[in-house]
This record gives sequence, C-alpha cells and structure tokens, in this order.
Amino acid sequence: MTSPDRAPSVDPSSQAIFHALEANEVFKQLGSSPDDGLTTESARERLVRHGPNELLEAPRPGLAKRLLDQFRNFIVLFLIGAAIASAAFGDYVEAVAILAIVVLNAVLGVVQEGRAEAALAALRKMAALEAQVIRDGHRIMVPARELVSGDVVVLEAGNRVPADVRLFETANLRVEEAALTGESVPVEKDARIVLRQDVALGDRGNTAFMGTLIAYGRGKGVVVSTGMHTQIGLIASSLQSIVEEQTPLQRRLDQLGKTLGKAALVVCGLVFAVGWVRGNDPLEMFLVAVSLAVAAVPEGLPAVVTITLALGMREMIKRHALIRRLSSVETLGSTTVICSDKTGTLTQNQMAVTRLWVDGVLLEVTGTAGEGSFRLDGKPVDLKQFRAAGTAIWVATLANDAELEPATDGRASGYRIVGDPTEGALILAASKAGADHAELDRAYPRIDEVPFDSSRKRMTTVHKIADPSPHDVSPFTDASQRGWEVAATKGAPDVILDLCTSMEKRNGERVSLSPEHRRTILEANAAMARQALRVLAVAYRVEQDVPDQATPETVEHDLTFVGLFGMIDPSRPEVPAAIERARRAGIRTVMITGDYPDTARAIATEIGLLHPGRDVMGGEELSALTDEELQQRVDRTDVYARVSPEHKVRIVDALKQRGEIVAMTGDGVNDAPALKRSDIGIAMGITGTDVAKETADMVLTDDNYVSIVAAVEQGRVIYSNIRKFVFFLLSCNVAEIAIIFVAVVVGLPPPLTPIQLLVLNLLTDGAPALALGYEKGDPDTMDQAPRPPREPIVNTRMRWGIGVQTVTIFVVTMTAYLIGLRLDPAAAGTMAFATLSFSQLPLAFTARSEQYPLLRIGIFSNAVMYYAVGFSVVVLLIGLYWPPAQQILDTVSLTVTEWEVILPLLAIPAIVAELTKWIQGWKAARPSGA
Ligand code: ADP
Ligand code: MG
Repeated sequence: MTSPDRAPSVDPSSQAIFHALEANEVFKQLGSSPDDGLTTESARERLVRHGPNELLEAPRPGLAKRLLDQFRNFIVLFLIGAAIASAAFGDYVEAVAILAIVVLNAVLGVVQEGRAEAALAALRKMAALEAQVIRDGHRIMVPARELVSGDVVVLEAGNRVPADVRLFETANLRVEEAALTGESVPVEKDARIVLRQDVALGDRGNTAFMGTLIAYGRGKGVVVSTGMHTQIGLIASSLQSIVEEQTPLQRRLDQLGKTLGKAALVVCGLVFAVGWVRGNDPLEMFLVAVSLAVAAVPEGLPAVVTITLALGMREMIKRHALIRRLSSVETLGSTTVICSDKTGTLTQNQMAVTRLWVDGVLLEVTGTAGEGSFRLDGKPVDLKQFRAAGTAIWVATLANDAELEPATDGRASGYRIVGDPTEGALILAASKAGADHAELDRAYPRIDEVPFDSSRKRMTTVHKIADPSPHDVSPFTDASQRGWEVAATKGAPDVILDLCTSMEKRNGERVSLSPEHRRTILEANAAMARQALRVLAVAYRVEQDVPDQATPETVEHDLTFVGLFGMIDPSRPEVPAAIERARRAGIRTVMITGDYPDTARAIATEIGLLHPGRDVMGGEELSALTDEELQQRVDRTDVYARVSPEHKVRIVDALKQRGEIVAMTGDGVNDAPALKRSDIGIAMGITGTDVAKETADMVLTDDNYVSIVAAVEQGRVIYSNIRKFVFFLLSCNVAEIAIIFVAVVVGLPPPLTPIQLLVLNLLTDGAPALALGYEKGDPDTMDQAPRPPREPIVNTRMRWGIGVQTVTIFVVTMTAYLIGLRLDPAAAGTMAFATLSFSQLPLAFTARSEQYPLLRIGIFSNAVMYYAVGFSVVVLLIGLYWPPAQQILDTVSLTVTEWEVILPLLAIPAIVAELTKWIQGWKAARPSGA
C-alpha cells in the first residue's frame, strides 16, 4: 500500500490542475482531510521534503561589490588623489598611510552597513506572516513559511493568503488579487465550482493565490502549492529584496552633511590658497586642505544614525513594539495624541459573559471557564422552563465562529478560545448551559452567512434545521420544521433592535414588538452599559426557505428579538499609570470604541482617561458634524463611542488639522485607511489582521496600550541620542577646521598634520559618537513636552553649544601649541594633537545628556562609552609613543613637563560644556522662555 504522502501529486510543482478537480478529489490526491487537515507528523515530513513556503529573495551583493561601493564617494576619491600626489612627490610613508586609512574607512563602512542591514532583516523576520491552519483536527497558528501542500488553511477577512490554496468552503468570500493580476476590485470566490483546466488565473474562482488579500467573508482551502511553485512565485522568479527608504531624519542629516561638506570645501580652498600665498609648501597645503575636508564632512553620520535607529528598534521589541519603518522611530517621539481602541488595547480582551437579559428578567452568569451556571436570585434556572434564555444561548452559539479548545499548555482544566474573544465568551457561557458548538452545528448546519464587520456591527448565519430533536437550548422541537431554514443574528443592541419586528417571551412565545418593549430593552441595555459591560443582542428568524444568497437585505429583516448578553472586559491594570505617564509627557490619550457611550464612559473614567468636563462623542453625533465642526470639538473630546472605522479617518484628519501628531491603533481590514492616514499607524499583533499589520508603522506584539507609551518614550530617547552625537561630532569637526584655518591665516605652520586629522576623525571621534547611540535617555524623557516635529536637529540651542565648544577647543589646542612652541618647537604639534584628541574624550561624556549634569545621569551608566573611550585612548597612546606610528603620525614622545601643560587643558572643554548646559537649563527655566 502506498501512503498518500508518496503520491506523486503531492509535489508542490504540480499545481495547475487542482481547480479542475472536485474538492474531495483534491484532498484524496494530497492525502489530507477537510476536517482534520494533515497530521503534525506528515506536515513536518513534507516540509523537509519540499522545503519552506518562501519566495526567494535576490541575493545580497557580494563583499567585493559592497567594499567597492564605499569608494564611490567623492571625499574618498579626493583622498586617493591626495595619496597619489604624495607618492608623486616621493612621500611614500604619507601615501601609504592615507591609503591605509581609506581602506580602513571602507572596511568600517561595510561593517557598519552590514550591522544595520542585519538588524533590519531580523525585524522583518519578526514581522513575518502567520497562517491559521487545521492540523490533527485542531486550529492552530503556524508561520506561513512552514505551510506544506495538503495543509488546510482558514481564511478570514484581512488575511493575506499564505500559499496557493484550492478552496473547499467559502462564505461570501471576496479576494483582492491586485498583487497577482493588478486588478484592485475584489473578485468573488466559490468553493463549489469546478473549472476547466485551461481557465485564466483571474477566473479561477475556486482558488486563492499566495499574496492576495481576503477583502471580505470567510473560507477554507487546502494548500496546493507553496513557495516558488505558487503563481506569484512563478511570476516573480526572484523577488527584489525590500529597499528601506531613507527616513526624513536621515534625509535631513544627509542634507546637513552636504551643506557642511560644501562649507568645508570652501574653507579648505581658502586654507590652501592662503597657505600657498604665504609661501607654504603647496603639496603640504593641498594635503592639509584635503584632510581637513575629510575631517569636516561627517560621512560616517548616516551609518551611525541607521545603527542607532536599529538599536532603538531592538530596544522597542523588548517592550513589545515592533517598528516596521525606520522613520516611525522619529515620528513616535513627537506624538501628541494617542488614539487607542478600547477593546483589547486598554482592556484585557478577556471577555466573560456575566449577564443575560431576556424579556424583563436579568439572569446572572457565574463561574469561570468550564464551570458555572445561569442563575436567577442565586438559584440555577431550568432552561426548559425559560425558553427565551435557551433561545438566546442557541443563537449566540450558532452565529459564532469561535471555538473552545482544551488548553494544551498544561493547565489541567482550562479552555483556550480560538477566534474572536467576544464570540469565545459567548461559547463559553453557552457551555455552562450545556450547549456544545459542534453538536449544535451538526443539528443546524450552517449554509450561508453575512459576516461580522465593524461598520455593520452585526453578523448573521443561516442554518438548515437538520435535526429538531429536543434540546435544552433550542427553540425548535417540532419534527415538521425539519428542513426549514433559520437565520441567527447577533450584534450591537440598537442595530439589532432596528431589524426586529417581534420578540420572544419568557415562555418561548413570539409576540410583536411594541414601542413599550423597545423602551424596556434599550433601558436594560443602558443599565448594563453603565456598569461598563459590553452588550450584544441576539435575534433570529425562521423561514421555510431563505434566498439563495444571504445578504443584509435578504436575511436581516423582520427578526425576532431574543435577549441581551452583558460581558465584562476588565481594563488592563497597568493602563492607568501609563495614561498618566503619557499625560505628563504632553500626550493625550483618546479612546475609540464600537461599544456604547455608557460602557465607554464607565471604563474611560475607571482608567483615568476621562475627566469631568471632557466630552464623550457618539458615532451618530460625529456623522452629523461637518469637518470644520469636528475640528472645533476634537480638542475637548477624549472618548468616541459607537464609531465605525470610517469615523476613525475623520478623527485622525481633524486632529491633524489641529496640528497634532496622531498615533492611531487598529486591527480590522476597515481600519487600514485610518492607520495609513495617521502619523503613526499601530496594529495589534495578536488580534490584528494582516492588512492592518501591513499598513501599520508599528505592530504591538502584546496588543497593549502600555507598549505604545513605552515605544514613544524609546522614540524620544533615540531621537535625543542622535542629537547627542550630531552635537558631539559637529563640535569636534568645526573646532578642527577652525584650528587649521586660523593657524594658516595668521601664518603659523598648521598645528595638525593631515594624517593626524584623518586618524582623529576615523578612530577617535567615531567610537565615542557611536557609544552615544547606546544612551538610555534622560530621567525626565517623559516629563517633557513633545518635540515640535519641524524643529531642525541643529536647533538654536545646539548651535550655541557647538559655537561655544569650537571656541573652547580652539583655545585649549592653540594654548598647548603656543606653549609647545616655546618649550620645544619639535613637540609643539604633538602637544596640539594630544590636547585636541584627548580633550574630546571627556567631552563625549558630557555630551551624554543635553541638559543634565554628567554626575546626575551617572558617570557609569553607559558601559559602551568606556569601551569606546578606552579604545580611543589606546589608539592615541600608540600613536604618541610607538616609534613606527610616531613616524606616520609625525609625533614625538612627550615629556612629563609637556604633559603637565596638557593635562589641565584637557578638562576645560568638558567643564565649559557642563557650564553651557547649566546656563542653557537656567535660561529655559525662565518663564519668558528662550
Ligand atoms: P470594538 O473596537 O469596541 O471591539 P468593534 O468594531 O469590534 O468595536 O465592534 C463594534 C460593535 O459590534 C461592538 O460594540 C458590538 O456591539 C458588535 N460586535 C462586536 N463583535 C461582534 C461579533 N463578533 N458579532 C456580532 N457583533 C459584534
Ligand atoms: Mg472588536
């Protein structure tokens, strides 16, 4: 006997024909089954045999190419020219030294870029797609790359189709196939059809292709081809690896670098000209000018920025925020409003039904998972006597896509909810009344449905009455009703009530719905909502025959109202502190929910989001406002209730019009526009759809509001770290230019040799600057107002800082130089070099905070800085005392007397920097402001 796994057609390259087969034939050929899927065992084996479900990426350019790329830089070419010139004049030591530096620079560049790239690749991997599959009869999530042919995949609105699948079950399934066909209008899919073998891709109505999007509805399919054998894989035989765009910050820094470069070139030209006129050796002057240019242009800056951003992103992942775009890191830090969904983000999404209201009676639902009962006045109720309660449970179970799975993680008697928590809560409550989802599904098989969507706020399933045998929770016990069809609807109470014309009495009798009834029902709804309960209404409709296609128009009318379920969704305990933290940081938190204003208000007040005097706005009111009116209101509205995803877009727009930087959360397909429109779109990592995740700038791996605030803080830290090393690098570079320029202009020999400048630039400034990227942030990062988004990096404050440092470094270096000229002219240049380079090291320490004294942030709080400074000190000492290096660097061994001159000078720039902070801090504290 051959095992199905050995059947040749399992080979993933043999796709093409499955659309022409009946679904059961497909399963037979693939050795799988619709209900149980593959076994874990055979899935693993197939994965080994056929390889992962991945599209190949274009290979990275090789090392040689990457190294060579480093030389496509104007400044580097300049340096090479300088080396050639040196050689031509017979100065071989200098030529070799310059070339060595050029090569070292290129190697460091490759290493830095490699690190940044690796960090980004790791991030992309974390954001990789997952798929819902059925294996061993259980629904589980697996990474999409582990899918194999024969796997049964569950597809829901918002999913990215993870492989090519032959559909075998579809409910209003519509798929947007733009990724494959370029056609952006979703196409309908129907599992029942069988096609001719030669139909075009765009017409294969029973197949869903990898990379396309489920726009609407639900379906199940069996994987027929994976990876490069999928249609998209065949088209894009090698997918371009994603090119990360430059972030606005990187662009601005690039710009800054270019401006500085141009300014430096002008100064260098001047230095060269003046030096020449003064009769200095032209070659020497040319080399000085070139080295100066190299020293002045912060060409390492972009790489350092990328590394810092990537480091920060790694830090954010630890705090459950996954950044999908580098540029978001900067925007995050300037966020002024966080618009957060209530359910699951501010609350735990651990829904539990605690109340059931039917026909004027409020039942209590007790217990936790697995046990508990429906009680009235403390006593369990007999559902046979209480038909309406039974019917409510019956509807809630049928119009439901969630499942209870026995917990597999060792908890002896637990359940795990697979699917929407709201629906899971209903299933769990129903189980307390003895209703089993699978059993009811067999007695009332689902034949059609109109899926849930946040705008409709309801869903309906259509069932055939297959077995109307007596059951505690079924309204149908009459054999004559066998074969009839029935629609079960659940959703937001007011929405459902509008569709009802009758209601079910306690005893199961159906009566027409009077205005009086309506009022009582809405009152019951409001009473539950005020207790922060999420309320869902259930209703149904019986017909002998329903229309062929279930649509809102055909089935959702003339319903019979049954009851209201009230469920708690406890707020997350850590949220109030985070809201307060955000508030201190000048960030307002706004709650957005589909639930009732009363529910929203109760929870918002509880978590400290809503304060007296602030507004709660309902969706209807919002709809009635014009954009201008809405803009007038957004500043004082902290809660939006009963809103649809379309409203979110208007809220974002209005807030942006008011000049806010808006972060907005979302999870559904319909949330994508709002996520795109906001400055920072945030998707839920657990409950979010693939569409939401792909549109978002950031994904929360724990769906928790607290992680947003943590990410904002981290965003601020990263931005301020970038400021810190920009400040540090510019201070040092500008000072170097000033020293050479002034010396040449006043007719002194240049205190620093070209090689000294290059070493300084590459080996000593670079390491401490990188270390600044590891700073943890000032203690009051979240006590400051958000940074104005348009403020340039080099703002007024920093310009002053750089100016003061330039003067200070200039003064100490020249002092050392002039004293040196007196003591021993041969050692003067070495003294200047030692002073300039060593004085930058304490300066790197003070640059660790823009406003806090070094002592306050802790001298030891950044270990990386010690490595960096230690490294620089070793390099410098070698350069000063090791004879071969002395030759290259043109240094002499300094005497104790000379060090006695230098040492006191070294501390001065750092001390002045600390004083500058103090003065600037003092200025900023004045009420008039700067
Ligand atoms: P929220 O962000 O508060 O979860 P949703 O947009 O998900 O809001 O839901 C909007 C409304 O639709 C809810 O307040 C509820 O009344 C109703 N609803 C939510 N989930 C379901 C569901 N699975 N089936 C039917 N109705 C639902
Ligand atoms: Mg929801």
